[in-house]
This record gives sequence, structure tokens and C-alpha cells, in this order.
Amino acid sequence: MDKKYARNGKGKAFLKRNMYYIIMGVCILAIGAMITVAVISQKKDSVPVDNTPVVEDPVDDPVDDPVDDPVDDPVVQPDPIVFSLPVESGTVIKDYAMDSLVWWTTLRLYKVHDGIDFGGEENEAVKAAYGGTVSEVGYDALKGNYVVIDHGNGLKTFYGSLSEPVVVKGQNVAKGATLGNISTSATNEMSDGPHVHFSVTKDGAIVNPYDYLPSGDK
Ligand SMILES: [Zn+2]
Repeated sequence: MDKKYARNGKGKAFLKRNMYYIIMGVCILAIGAMITVAVISQKKDSVPVDNTPVVEDPVDDPVDDPVDDPVDDPVVQPDPIVFSLPVESGTVIKDYAMDSLVWWTTLRLYKVHDGIDFGGEENEAVKAAYGGTVSEVGYDALKGNYVVIDHGNGLKTFYGSLSEPVVVKGQNVAKGATLGNISTSATNEMSDGPHVHFSVTKDGAIVNPYDYLPSGDK
């Protein structure tokens, strides 16, 4: 017990002797603490302000783009396919009609028509409505000289009633490439005059060509 008091007494004496240094030390510690707090708070302020836009952009871009692209591509790909007219000055002389019957002048009967007949100026060129690979070149007793272009993804275009085709099977053709001329080679549509019988198939099934022609063509 005595020792303890003695020690406390010595401690008080030490405090009195060194009060000036102790106060100085406390002040220095306090100033140091204030500086530390100021620096930390500055850092805290500057972190979200400076880094937020810098960090978010590079994070958003690489995350969004690779996710969006593979998802969008297979969905969007068929949508931008817009055909050009197979005959530039073409007028529709017999329309697409799969839900109704149309008059076939040559056959003298009403039946469906699975494509659009485009007439034009004499011997006017028939052009690929869209780029692709020529998958068939041939002659059919009813459809005349014809060319089929495979555009990929199950989409094909058929051009009948051509003059002698000027493309060969396996040839890659660009949109607008000449395939032949309009003619009356289709014996089932001879009386309609020179034209191309243009039809479109998707996965082997006839589809409405107007789904792919620029809006305003009908
Ligand atoms: Zn036709």
C-alpha cells in the first residue's frame, strides 16, 4: 500500500515537472490527429468524386457490350435484311397471293401465286435482291429459266421466267448483281409478257416477299 502511494506521489511530481512538455505533446497529438482526419476525409471525398465516372465506364462497357452483342446478333440479324427490287423499273404485273386466288392469264384459271411478277423494260436486267450464293441454276417447263440464291439462315430467293441466266451454281453474288434478263420463258405465265417471277422461301416454306422488300413497295 505504501509503495503504491509513494509511486502515485512520484507520478504527480513527474506530472508537475513535465506539465509543459505533456501539454505540448498533447497539442502535437491533437494537431496530428486533426491533420490525419483532414487527410482521410479529403481522401474519402475524392474517392467517389474522382473514381466513380472513371470506374463505371470501363466496367459498364466491357460488361454491357459482350453481353449485348451475342444476345442481339442472332435476334437482330434477320431484321435488317432489306431486299432491293429484282427489276429496277419493275412494276408488279401479278401480285403475291397465297391467301386468295388470282387470275392466271396464260392458264386461264384462278389460283394462288407464290411470288411477285415484276415486269419492266424490254430485256431489262434481273438483279439479286440480296447478297448470297447461287444455289441453283436451271430450267423448268413451267417456271422457265430460273436462279435460286441462298442468303443463309434458311432464306432463299427464286427468280423465274429469266432469259438465259448469266450466273453459275456456287457463285457468290452481291446485292444488285445481274442474274439474267426478264423474259417469257415461264410457259405458265407467257401471256403476261416479259417479267421475273420472284418468290422467297424461309426454311423451305414460301413467305411473303413484302416482308423483305422496302416498305412503300406495296
Ligand atoms: Zn409469277
